[in-house]
Amino acid sequence: MTEHPPRRLPNVLITGTPGTGKTTHANQLFEALQATQSEDDEVKWEHINVGDEFVKNRGCHSGFNEEWQSWDVDEDKLLDELELVQVPGGKILDWHTCDIFPERWIDLVVVLRCDHALLWSRLEKRAYPLAKIQENNTAEIMEVVLMDARESYAEEIVVELKSESPEEVEENVARIVAWVEAWRKDHS
Ligand code: ADP
Repeated sequence: MTEHPPRRLPNVLITGTPGTGKTTHANQLFEALQATQSEDDEVKWEHINVGDEFVKNRGCHSGFNEEWQSWDVDEDKLLDELELVQVPGGKILDWHTCDIFPERWIDLVVVLRCDHALLWSRLEKRAYPLAKIQENNTAEIMEVVLMDARESYAEEIVVELKSESPEEVEENVARIVAWVEAWRKDHS
């Protein structure tokens, strides 16, 4: 394994069942963190939407699965592609899968949670196939992503946050920004 210098900014993973609000949070967090940067900062914040954009743009898949309306992800290729990208830090990784990344890549794991009936209506608006809505709904009830996160990362870096209203998005983003500031002080 190549040794790299310490990260200048933390890598933040935003995860949760599809529809819990990962991309909404990641977009707002990116804007808020970008506003704290100056032109001269060597490492810039970047929002990486793993499942919809990165996987597609970098060809880390074996095709689009029409039934599930998502890419069939080639996890080895995805990890190879992300390996160098994550090195300087400042990455906001936005993906419903949280347990494939090496622990050493990630400084904070935010698991978004949402009432399952609310989640159902959000997924219906996306015109997801019924089987996909049902599977995601069950996964949210069974806390699958939260359990995966707790099994994959140190307890103290996993934070569970509710995402049911726009106010909660704002509060959550403010909380993560404060956490990032504290991380930067600790690592300066
Ligand atoms: P994900 O990235 O987890 O699949 P999105 O961020 O795309 O979820 O959100 C799914 C839908 O739910 C969007 O229409 C978004 O506006 C809405 N949404 C997400 N989080 C919230 C929230 N906390 N309050 C209100 N609406 C939300």
